[in-house]
Amino acid sequence: MLKVNEINVNYGNIRALKGVSLDVNEGEIVTLIGANGAGKSTLLKTLSGLLKPKEGTIEYLGKSIAGKPAQTIVKAGISHVPEGRRVFANMTVEENLELGAYLRNDSAGIRQDFAKVYELFPRLEERKKQLSGTLSGGEQQMLAMGRALMARPKLLLLDEPSMGLAPLLVQTIFRIIEEINRDGTTILLVEQNAHMALSIANRAYVVETGKIVISGTAEELQASEEVKMAYLGGH
Ligand code: ATP
Repeated sequence: MLKVNEINVNYGNIRALKGVSLDVNEGEIVTLIGANGAGKSTLLKTLSGLLKPKEGTIEYLGKSIAGKPAQTIVKAGISHVPEGRRVFANMTVEENLELGAYLRNDSAGIRQDFAKVYELFPRLEERKKQLSGTLSGGEQQMLAMGRALMARPKLLLLDEPSMGLAPLLVQTIFRIIEEINRDGTTILLVEQNAHMALSIANRAYVVETGKIVISGTAEELQASEEVKMAYLGGH
């Protein structure tokens, strides 16, 4: 479904991604793990059109999307839930969700997706008239995910959904990610919580200083001594 081949991405003169290649197949949950500053967010931003690769190719459903405008990429079926959630604080929950569907004009489909999002996140329905800035961190994460789903993506890019959340809530969010995947959405998940990410992923890539250094099935990575030492706290 997605084929990234040898991309280089720079911030000015700083090279943040160096020859990164990866694949995501339809129906999978693929996770990208790695330390702070390794380049994970940069990769997601490049896939969603917020950054342009200097070299390399990105193919999605057989078409090149490298350097295409973000709007074109959303329309093609890729939605990005950025790190730190970025909900519109002065708008209600419902208005934030509506914005997620702004490129669509199939009102029946949009209504269906509202119902689906409220089924996945009953909290959001309870709070639909509330200003988003007053939600808890976990609720804002749910809203950011719900807003991305309102674009009816085929591929969902999730950047650190567990960040700053209490352990119980992290489990809830991960359960919902699995549910979204079961419903037919392919997922590329960036996480620092490697333990949780590997527990739900089919395959994984480890990123270090802008390069993919390890890749394999989630089971292979969970069993790897190197991954255990560096990312799973030695367990
Ligand atoms: P984190 O989870 O902390 O965001 P990350 O793995 O997602 O980590 P990136 O945010 O992709 O890492 O950052 C990769 C590298 O690029 C880091 O060295 C970072 O300092 C640098 N970088 C990120 N954003 C910018 C920017 N806007 N300008 C310059 N350098 C940047």
